[in-house]
Amino acid sequence: MPDHASSSLAPVGLSPALSRMMPAFTPGTVWLAGAGPGDLGLLTLQTVWGLAQADVVFYDALVNEDVLDLARPEAERAFVGKRAGCPSPKQSEITARLIAAARAGKRVLRLKGGDPYVFGRGAEEAQGLAAAGVPFRVAPGITAGIGGLAAAGIPVTHRDVNQSVTFLTAHDASGALSARLDWAALSAASPVLVIYMGFRLMEVIAAKLMAAGRPADEPAAIVSQATTPRQRVVRTTLGRLALRADVEALEPPVLIVVGGVVALAPVLEAAGFSGAASA
Ligand code: SAH
Repeated sequence: MPDHASSSLAPVGLSPALSRMMPAFTPGTVWLAGAGPGDLGLLTLQTVWGLAQADVVFYDALVNEDVLDLARPEAERAFVGKRAGCPSPKQSEITARLIAAARAGKRVLRLKGGDPYVFGRGAEEAQGLAAAGVPFRVAPGITAGIGGLAAAGIPVTHRDVNQSVTFLTAHDASGALSARLDWAALSAASPVLVIYMGFRLMEVIAAKLMAAGRPADEPAAIVSQATTPRQRVVRTTLGRLALRADVEALEPPVLIVVGGVVALAPVLEAAGFSGAASA
């Protein structure tokens, strides 16, 4: 983590004209803000504005810590994610800390990777705040399953390929393969599947999709650390996902995408969108 006291980066605000367009960050309120998939250029203006004013920032493991340089030097930075060897704080504890900080009259920024309401438990925190009567606002972010894939040259839709896209998480709250997913229905109805938190269960997911009728040679991709300098894109097939092939040296976070849009990546990457290397 950067040493903020000696950081050469001044906190970044917004120009006066942009600032006037931003909502007030009132003391005693919480902003649930998205930090995007990693690249600081993908932060929204509202999140930058919230960071520049917050008294305390609660952030997750998925958040690029360089983002914290955009907060005031005196703002408190509280890590509430999971670190190797240490369990993450319970959701109820995080919500309780947000409530306590707001009740102490602070401007509380809850910063989450991607978009706070996409597989990020942001809605659970919002429910807790609502139940406690703490005013809050949601500042949406760019979710990894759209912006991260774009950076890998993979558009989530293309008129010639798919008229729908499904975002799914492979596991439930216990970490097991979710029993609530209907693989036959997904397989039949979803030409493009974007899978969050699916790396560990990749073989099982691919096998389920093939058992439900998706062909083994269907294009698939694994995108690791999307939009960061460490981004890796592996273009493969569903059949190879089922064998857990092609995954050496891939570090989380990882997205998996299955469907014809992956076949567009060589052209769209070659157009120089991202500078991302492809395996
Ligand atoms: N709220 C986040 C998702 C949280 S779930 C969002 O909207 O993006 C965590 C999962 O998101 C990871 O397991 C991974 O599947 C995906 N993810 C988040 N950031 C990513 C990144 N930079 N590259 C690849 N996958 C990412």
